[in-house]
Amino acid sequence: MTQFPGFATRAIHHAYDPLENEGALTPPLHLTSTFSFETAEAGAEIFAGERQGHIYSRISNPTCDILENRIACLESAEAGLALSSGMGAITAVLWTLLSPGDEVIVDRTLYGCTFAFMRHGLAKWGVKITHVDMTDPQNLCAAVSEKTRVVYFETPANPNMRLVDITASAEIAHSVGAQVVVDNTYASPYLTRPIELGADIVVHSATKYLGGHGDAVGGLVVGAAEQIEEIRLVGMKDMTGAVMAPFNAMLILRGLKTLNLRMDRHCSSARVVADYLESHPAIENVCFPGLESFAQHDLAKRQMSQPGAMIAFEVMGGVPAGIALMNRLKLIQRAVSLGDAESLIQHPASMTHSTYTPEERAEHGISDGLIRLSVGLEDVEDILADLAQALNRSTCNAA
Ligand SMILES: *Cc1c(COP(=O)(O)O)cnc(C)c1O
Repeated sequence: MTQFPGFATRAIHHAYDPLENEGALTPPLHLTSTFSFETAEAGAEIFAGERQGHIYSRISNPTCDILENRIACLESAEAGLALSSGMGAITAVLWTLLSPGDEVIVDRTLYGCTFAFMRHGLAKWGVKITHVDMTDPQNLCAAVSEKTRVVYFETPANPNMRLVDITASAEIAHSVGAQVVVDNTYASPYLTRPIELGADIVVHSATKYLGGHGDAVGGLVVGAAEQIEEIRLVGMKDMTGAVMAPFNAMLILRGLKTLNLRMDRHCSSARVVADYLESHPAIENVCFPGLESFAQHDLAKRQMSQPGAMIAFEVMGGVPAGIALMNRLKLIQRAVSLGDAESLIQHPASMTHSTYTPEERAEHGISDGLIRLSVGLEDVEDILADLAQALNRSTCNAA
């Protein structure tokens, strides 16, 4: 297989050759649940792992194969695995890696369903969950022990954009023999490649930037080939059955072809929107890794090629003012999810992070007034105009 150097070229071509597929420019969609064996002996050899071949689409599928190889290539990993959703990916990885009595150390701020899975799912099976503020690697250093099997974090973290230093965290985790799992959904491999910085496994909600068009739910995992094979056979095949449908693999492959173009536009518009919000008198604070005022701005410059396109902010007047602002928007859609062509806005405390109790949100640094904006691909002037009309009306009495 030819190995192309450029990111965009690999996102379009890697792991697929039309000339091996009847000349079809785009990968065929293999809508098949099962695969025929030439002979009973050949089938037995495939089952035994002595011969290459597909068995059943809950284990592997040729369309999903292309996506798995392509994301591995973009993330600088040996192998990849496609699952039914980001949560399918996260649960399959952690069910495979952890056993009762093990400890997983996780960052203080997590995506709501990941938090719920840890707190209510893994904990039920005797896995110890320790939350640590990983923005300071010293805290992780103080928390790790021989019981620590996995160190897990998102960077930037959902919803407040806090970053974790991947290189420093990986060194600490590896010093006690633990593995590092990074949720790279917010950055995508175009902005950050955790494996190159020392992480062992990367998980994605492909529903977001990788698919990029809001039409498919999917998850991806990359890592070392042997470990990915274990996650495929244990976490995916037997424990969760959370396999990606070939049709979704096709949609996500199509999304990947424009990942770099879309990310460049998402990021350049987000910078403009973040500057606008920061300078607006009705805005209390803005969390965006690209701002000089962002506490971890230096780490953002070191670890991300661009600061991403997710912005969190608080409006003066707290929760009611934030809700009023959301209700006045005409272009920006009130919706969860992110990374779509459409700009999306949501209120984490009542939506994505309602899986936390109010006390847990306070403890984990998710303030009730926070609003999260996913800057889309519309003309940035139109995004700014929508925010301006909503802010300027909602703050008449305050200004
Ligand atoms: C959306 C999301 C998930 C979950 O992914 P699904 O595809 O919705 O299951 C996990 N982590 C992060 C950071 C997310 O934004």
